[in-house]
Amino acid sequence: METILTIQNLSKRYGRIHALKNVSFSIQKGHVYGILGPNGSGKSTTLGIVLNVVNKTSGDYKWFDGNVQTHKALKKVGAIIERPNFYPYMTAEENLKLVCKIKSINYSKITEKLDLVGLTERKDSKFSTFSLGMKQRLAIASALLNDPEILILDEPTNGLDPQGIHQIRDIIKEIASHGTTILLASHLLDEVEKVCSHVVVLRKGEVLYSGSVDGMSANEGFFEISSNDNSVL
Ligand code: ADP
Ligand code: MG
Repeated sequence: METILTIQNLSKRYGRIHALKNVSFSIQKGHVYGILGPNGSGKSTTLGIVLNVVNKTSGDYKWFDGNVQTHKALKKVGAIIERPNFYPYMTAEENLKLVCKIKSINYSKITEKLDLVGLTERKDSKFSTFSLGMKQRLAIASALLNDPEILILDEPTNGLDPQGIHQIRDIIKEIASHGTTILLASHLLDEVEKVCSHVVVLRKGEVLYSGSVDGMSANEGFFEISSNDNSVL
């Protein structure tokens, strides 16, 4: 089995806040992983560290076989960890062309990726006219332009209506079916159960469970599930 990412004893302090405490897990090629935990459990901090935008306090991580420097390895990683941000008065297609130009990617990829996220018919619409769900889908298309080994998404369905949520989840499953490894951070148990095969459960910066989603579901006494929004407390 090919390992995409290995995290060992990762810890992070923001001043007095101990955001991550000895977090360890690994990601194998071809699976769909969830990082599940309530707000503040350390999901985004974990992603920020491995994407080299947040400094770790201690511990380590390595991409792929660890033989290339992080900045080179990250060229094979697609990530959406912020709200989608494109030029509002440029069309969807123009925005993707710009991304291709900046990253030296062939424009020929654009058609396929717009199709994958269901935006072909809106390719000539300005970004400013897009709903949040469409913006998120354009961000996914953009992150996939260079055919990354792994796609990382941080709470991609937050703020979307039920139809938008459904579309994003279906697109993630479609991407995974093509063999792309996925790492999805979510505070929603049902989202992880619907989309992921593997899960790392975080609580207050610690790994509570790591393994198959089926194995987690069999252990649900582990978690207190809130009755109203299905999040893990
Ligand atoms: P999650 O993504 O699971 O909601 P985060 O990784 O964003 O969790 O946050 C983990 C903890 O670290 C929280 O207590 C949060 O308040 C804190 N935290 C996150 N980012 C910062 C920051 N830039 N400065 C200080 N504290 C932070
Ligand atoms: Mg977060």
